[in-house]
Amino acid sequence: MMKVGFIGLGVMGKPMAGHLVDAGHELIVYNRTSAKAQELIAKGATGAASTGEVGQVSDVVITMLPDSPDVEAVLFEDGGLISTLKPGSLLIDCSTISPEAAAAIGGQLAATGIQFVDAPVSGGEIGAVSGKLAIMMGGEVEAVTRAEEVLNAFAGAMAHVGPVGSGQLVKAANQMLVAGNIAIVGEALSLLQRTEVDIDSALGVLNGGLAASRVLEVKAPKMLERDFAPGFRLDLHYKDLRIALAAAEHAKIAVPLTGIITQLVQALRSAGDGGEDHSALIKAIERLSGAATPVKEGAL
Ligand code: NAD
Repeated sequence: MMKVGFIGLGVMGKPMAGHLVDAGHELIVYNRTSAKAQELIAKGATGAASTGEVGQVSDVVITMLPDSPDVEAVLFEDGGLISTLKPGSLLIDCSTISPEAAAAIGGQLAATGIQFVDAPVSGGEIGAVSGKLAIMMGGEVEAVTRAEEVLNAFAGAMAHVGPVGSGQLVKAANQMLVAGNIAIVGEALSLLQRTEVDIDSALGVLNGGLAASRVLEVKAPKMLERDFAPGFRLDLHYKDLRIALAAAEHAKIAVPLTGIITQLVQALRSAGDGGEDHSALIKAIERLSGAATPVKEGAL
């Protein structure tokens, strides 16, 4: 068992950290809004007063923060992690950030003898709570092997996909796939809701064929119930789609569908919906047809 530090106890971080306590690790936690640490402290974790303190007392530190500038801040701010982590310690960043930022962080940490693995996750809040996240890891073999021992506490699947930054590239592909799937589920539901089709029966049969997907299974009911509480905020998915577009530009390839979906997400953010779950993408599609809520006129 190891001394594990955890920084960023939001929708994903809190349940992930909880699994580390359950697995028997000695856990030290820090969150900017300290109230979010209380539940974990009650569970047996120790609260730290700063990110630097987390680094001081941990062998391994996990960060689960919104975006690249947040990870850079906890590392490089005055008294931040990089100044307190011991040589030979390991930083695992589970946040979704840009591959370039991950590679730069890995380089700076390596210069001070600290190992780094980028290990973004997929599976959403449900996956974090159930401890069944898919984790894509970039880094040196030795660091990744060490990271696996810790990440095992909340992983359903793990893969070492290449050098530092590669985990973030695979996560970008993941976010293209998820957004595309949500958008087309939104289009299909918008169509069906304008007809006299029995939607529950339709979803049942669709989930039994080639169109079946986790998105269809999990997000379609949310769209039908108009339950857009996050989950995964559109603002965060927008960040990820921009990472994917930048990666595509870097690789000199065109990703037209990703471009269109990014614009739909931007339209929702402009309308003030950025804090809603990404299943709210259906609203952008409905608005294109002039209806905020579906109507069944001229069915079949
Ligand atoms: P969140 O906004 O719920 O949580 C982020 C947490 O970080 C918050 O508690 C915030 O207070 C804390 N924080 C921010 N800056 C900080 C700082 N400088 N020091 C300490 N704490 C700080 O976000 P989330 O949904 O948990 O997502 C975290 C990351 O995981 C993002 O990169 C996101 O893209 C990714 N992700 C999210 C999901 C999901 O379904 N929510 C799924 C997979 C991956």
